[in-house]
Amino acid sequence: MAGLQLDALTKRFDDTLAVDAIDLDIADQEFLVLLGPSGCGKSTVLRLIAGLEYPSSGTVSIGGRIVNDVDPAKRDVAMVFQSYALYPHKTVAQNIDVPLRSQKLPKETRSEMIAEAARALDIADLLGRKPAQLSGGQRQRVALARAIVRRPAVFLMDEPLSNLDAALRVQTRAELVDLHDRLDTTFVYVTHDQVEAMTMADRVAVIQEGKLQQVGPPSEVYDEPANTMVARFIGTPPMNLITGSPTKAPEVAPTDGREVVVGFRPEHVAITPDGWLRGKVLLVESLGHERLVHCEVPGGERVTIRVDPDDAIPHDGEPIGLAPTPGRIHWFDPSTGRRLP
Ligand code: ATP
Repeated sequence: MAGLQLDALTKRFDDTLAVDAIDLDIADQEFLVLLGPSGCGKSTVLRLIAGLEYPSSGTVSIGGRIVNDVDPAKRDVAMVFQSYALYPHKTVAQNIDVPLRSQKLPKETRSEMIAEAARALDIADLLGRKPAQLSGGQRQRVALARAIVRRPAVFLMDEPLSNLDAALRVQTRAELVDLHDRLDTTFVYVTHDQVEAMTMADRVAVIQEGKLQQVGPPSEVYDEPANTMVARFIGTPPMNLITGSPTKAPEVAPTDGREVVVGFRPEHVAITPDGWLRGKVLLVESLGHERLVHCEVPGGERVTIRVDPDDAIPHDGEPIGLAPTPGRIHWFDPSTGRRLP
């Protein structure tokens, strides 16, 4: 059991600053998700924790001990990759046995541990098969079983669900949360998929351009994004962001008269003739359970509104009045992108 601290953790590859001075405290037994777009540096953070990369500067501590110079095998972490990396010529049982053999445990103990991990991941009836005889989801469970079997202090996962189809991803998400609850182990999980982050994490750490943008519970990151980058990245469709002066929203805007970026989520806006934001409907998309109305507002900016399928909505090309819900409007500094109080 161990918490994890990253202190000013930095990794430079030639001319790329992949990880830029990240400070992060991860509590013992926490489920922390590192979330960000492709190339933001999240896998590199995980590899630095695992010891597969050496920091350019800063430190990684596990259980209160700096481990920069500790061999990956001695860090008490286990990592599951997107590719699973199973040995094709070994059976499922032999694959799960690999980390146990290297610990030189007696055969009987190893068999018990393999059986327990297989039970936990519901693959007990597959122990005699080879990876080629398994589905993608089953292979992924074998990789997880191999990682949990030696009870690491920290469990690192790099996009472990990305090879699964949509239905299996939903199921496996729930299983991972359950597994985390049962194992009492710290999980650090990398993904670019905000749904995975929102549904599984105790806290989400949003990374963009190598920098930690925000860390907090999923609801906080969604409801109070720290900057426009986070506001744009979390939420589908993302938060609407329009640059405007407070006079456009006299009832809700900050009072000092400066230009701000006004943000509101697609579900936090009403279509009403009295709306202070005037626009024109460009396109209505019907998704069955909801409709998305895409509008253009003065200045050429685009705004998306989420509407119940039964609600009346204007047609393409019609003018529209929009009233973002007071109390659900966000303001950001146009030059720094930072959230304004
Ligand atoms: P993805 O979701 O696509 O895997 P990521 O957020 O995990 O992306 P990283 O793999 O951490 O991103 O890469 C961060 C940056 O560092 C990228 O610009 C990448 O090209 C660069 N990078 C990563 N590994 C190396 C390396 N070994 N040598 C040079 N550059 C690297």
